[in-house]
Amino acid sequence: MTTRMLPVLDQARARPAPKEHSFGIDAKLAEFATDDVALPSFHVWTLGCQMNHSDSEEMAGALAAAGCAEASDLESAELIVINSCAIREAAEQKVIGRMGHLANLRTANPSLRVVLTGCSVREDNVGTLRRRYPQVDLFLRPDEEPELTARLGLAGPTAPGLLAARASAVGEGRIQRRSALSAWLPIIYGCDKTCTYCIVPFSRGPERSRPFDDVLAEARSLAAAGYREVTLLGQNVNSYGHDLPADERFADVHTGRHLGRRLALDGKPDMAALLRAIDGLRTADGVPAIPRVRFVTSHPWDLSERLIAAMAECQAVCEHLHLPIQSGDDAVLRRMGRQYTVASYLELVERLRTAVPGISLTTDVIVGFCGETEAQFESTLDLLRQVRFEQVFAAAFSPRPGTPAARLEDDVPRAEKKRRLQALLNLQEEISRDVNAAWVGRVTEVLVDQERPRSSHDAAVDDGTVRLAGRNRNNKIVHFDGPPELIGQPVAVRVDHAGPYALSGALDG
Ligand code: SAM
Ligand code: SF4
Repeated sequence: MTTRMLPVLDQARARPAPKEHSFGIDAKLAEFATDDVALPSFHVWTLGCQMNHSDSEEMAGALAAAGCAEASDLESAELIVINSCAIREAAEQKVIGRMGHLANLRTANPSLRVVLTGCSVREDNVGTLRRRYPQVDLFLRPDEEPELTARLGLAGPTAPGLLAARASAVGEGRIQRRSALSAWLPIIYGCDKTCTYCIVPFSRGPERSRPFDDVLAEARSLAAAGYREVTLLGQNVNSYGHDLPADERFADVHTGRHLGRRLALDGKPDMAALLRAIDGLRTADGVPAIPRVRFVTSHPWDLSERLIAAMAECQAVCEHLHLPIQSGDDAVLRRMGRQYTVASYLELVERLRTAVPGISLTTDVIVGFCGETEAQFESTLDLLRQVRFEQVFAAAFSPRPGTPAARLEDDVPRAEKKRRLQALLNLQEEISRDVNAAWVGRVTEVLVDQERPRSSHDAAVDDGTVRLAGRNRNNKIVHFDGPPELIGQPVAVRVDHAGPYALSGALDG
């Protein structure tokens, strides 16, 4: 069998209609028959956020539906799709660092095809990328990903636009999900915010919400397939619905944004309505058909009272919220274009903790943003001491060409950014250890998702148990020993040890 060489299509082209043969092949001519032709095997290399991982599941599903098999790694693939991240320079460097390797693979296999997509590909930089990366055959912006199979000349599924493509991929069961337990469910694409440091609005374009009924249909199909956890995804999930038409089912939706620029949400579906509808999918026993629902990422602007009430009242919604603060100083927040103050953020935290007792809060912080003084950095540390987040995802500011902040002076030296980052991580490690210590002695529900290798200091055991791990509803990783059959199940674990990054314990009862 030979492998079909893919055309190098860097422009959308109409595919010629296949030729029809109205006659069978004479057995005497069989020796002239050509070999069967296999389609190239593919590998999708995904960098960056959950949204990219979700998009990759959709692209892998489209390639599989077109007849391509999945290769176990990049080296053995005949078609490589790189789903890139551009949020920081380091993420882009990872791809640049692999270009030499890709060039070698191409020399060894001239029919290898390489596609670069994700946030590194934007309308304004494709020409530059083409010159810089001769190893790449096809560049696709994130909103062009549904065209992947057609642009490669494969007879894959096509539907116009991201929203319709997702709906048909779901309808035809074409998403190649990486887990049978927890699923990503994109609800809104793009971002309308103008955070001055961020490339996302440029790479992913304006906000486009998926129709309410499409999201609900996908949630229903996930419930039917036995998924126990669903994470609703968007760069900015809480502004879901403002771009959808009004509908009488949502006549009770009136409030717009709590902070920042007001959104006209009147009569349109919002995040609160969506959470309530998904929570309302019930089994015959009346329990949520999807027992755990999460959503990321939340911008503080759009965290409405309605949403907080829905989080408090929906049984399925987990007691965890990732709410990026970015800085603990108002002047820095203003320069970042975040549109809230530290005081208003703290007020939100208060409201969340009152409405959802025991809620775990995590956040993102950027250190060393343009003009950040030592005192302003110290304010961020003070904020961490005050809020006591469970976990902080921190990074040094990385200027992104084309963003408004790229025109500001990047005046915090690299070494100083590194020092601030380390100081923040050290402080947060102490806080996380402390916050986690409160779990010792408690019993918590863990959704078991994997077997972990035992560490060298674990006592050797020969009782049929293995080291298992999963997350509780508060999104904490919990380790314990148990039979491998528990993978995929929710189990009760009594916590007996807490570290800064994970808990451990034993099966309860
Ligand atoms: N939409 C989310 C929000 O409102 O915060 C964040 C999405 S962004 C993909 C994830 C995180 O990357 C941000 O919260 C921010 O902390 C970080 N980030 C974005 N641009 C950055 C930059 N230029 N330098 C360093 N970190 C950056
Ligand atoms: Fe970037 Fe701000 Fe949009 Fe988040 S809200 S994706 S940080 S522009």
